[in-house]
Amino acid sequence: MSNLVARLCESINSGTPLNQSDLQLFIDGVATRALPIEAITQWLKAVHTHGISVEDTVALTTGMMHSGAVLSWDDARPIADKHSTGGVGDKMSLMLAPALAACGAEVPMLAGRGLGHTGGTIDKLEAIPGFNCALTPEQMSNIVDQIGCCIAAQNDAIAPADGLLYAIRDVTNTVDSIPLITASIVSKKAAEGLQALVLDVKCGQAAFMKTESQATELAQSMVRVAQGLGIRTMAQITDMNQPIGTHIGNALEVIESIHVLNGKGPQDTINLVAMQGGALLWLLGRCENEEQGRQLIIESLNDGRAAEKFQQMCVAQGASQSVAKELLQSPSDVLGKAHHITEIKSQGNGWVDSIDSMVLAEIAREHGAGRFAIEDEIDPAVGFILNAVKGNPIRSGQKWIEFHHNQPMSDAQRDNLSNALTVASTQTQPIERLIKVIQ
Ligand code: URA
Repeated sequence: MSNLVARLCESINSGTPLNQSDLQLFIDGVATRALPIEAITQWLKAVHTHGISVEDTVALTTGMMHSGAVLSWDDARPIADKHSTGGVGDKMSLMLAPALAACGAEVPMLAGRGLGHTGGTIDKLEAIPGFNCALTPEQMSNIVDQIGCCIAAQNDAIAPADGLLYAIRDVTNTVDSIPLITASIVSKKAAEGLQALVLDVKCGQAAFMKTESQATELAQSMVRVAQGLGIRTMAQITDMNQPIGTHIGNALEVIESIHVLNGKGPQDTINLVAMQGGALLWLLGRCENEEQGRQLIIESLNDGRAAEKFQQMCVAQGASQSVAKELLQSPSDVLGKAHHITEIKSQGNGWVDSIDSMVLAEIAREHGAGRFAIEDEIDPAVGFILNAVKGNPIRSGQKWIEFHHNQPMSDAQRDNLSNALTVASTQTQPIERLIKVIQ
């Protein structure tokens, strides 16, 4: 096995094509957990540093997709999903899956845990008492047959190679690599047996892709590989400089999602859900254009159908009827609360110009909202509520953020948090998320 990894790393380091049977043996060794973590880390670091060719990225993605079960559906079924490359406050999947199901699409979503500084859908859902993301392929199919959507984590049965690679990348600084992100996301999505896929490629200081040109390169790589696997695919490159919505942190993001599912919540979040859902309904041929799709998603949020689907999904995935019902009515009573809430006040008068999402993400992670080692436990209650966002007026002495935490805050964290807000003296504009579309 160590010879295998040494041979692959030698090719990667020298930029020569990978031996395809060695690559397949490597993927099998990851999927079956036969390869030692150190050897996998060595391979990840080589790919992260030197990259691999498009052809090898396609082979890696296909191998990872077939490392476990591939869901199969009748061709006529509108099977769809979206995936994000990861952001701060990115809770879209929690609302999108039920909203799409309410609009007649079917969503067998496989999602991830937090990665690096970014939050993960699975960690958020696991803040809900009883919610079980460890579904077998049969359970996923059954729940989608019954209610139209489910959200599951990769497990030993579905995309198991990505499960382990993802967890190791999270703690070895090997996340921001175009071939690794492409293979990770597209292999999972292809294993769902999709007809249509929207990729939300985040771009900015709190994204893995910092510049528009990097984000474009990643979007093109993923669209090319997913379309090559027969999936109708579109990538939306979106701005990840400001945190999304108003709540950041696992349980707090569930609360904001429920506000949106109840027809309320911040416009920023509603716009993103509607944009992604509208594009998917259009790719599926369920409306004439994306704008019509957007309206259908918004109607499902406003008339309670998306909330009902969410409640059904919670019950189908293990939450009790009473927890699911109360969650929709009074989410903060159901989800754990932090022992401390620290309020930070603005030192300037004017309009919010920016909030440094990376600072927020790092502090939240240091307090347990994310992991530094594979075995780290998540503290679901940790996170932030923003009382002001870009474009809002703000006065000196006004609370702009609440930090929910269970451990004491250090002076440095308090200073960094205070400095994360920039106030402008002239009026600023709310964030525009969509930068461009690749299809
Ligand atoms: N999400 C994934 O599933 N994989 C990545 O590599 C990045 C974001």
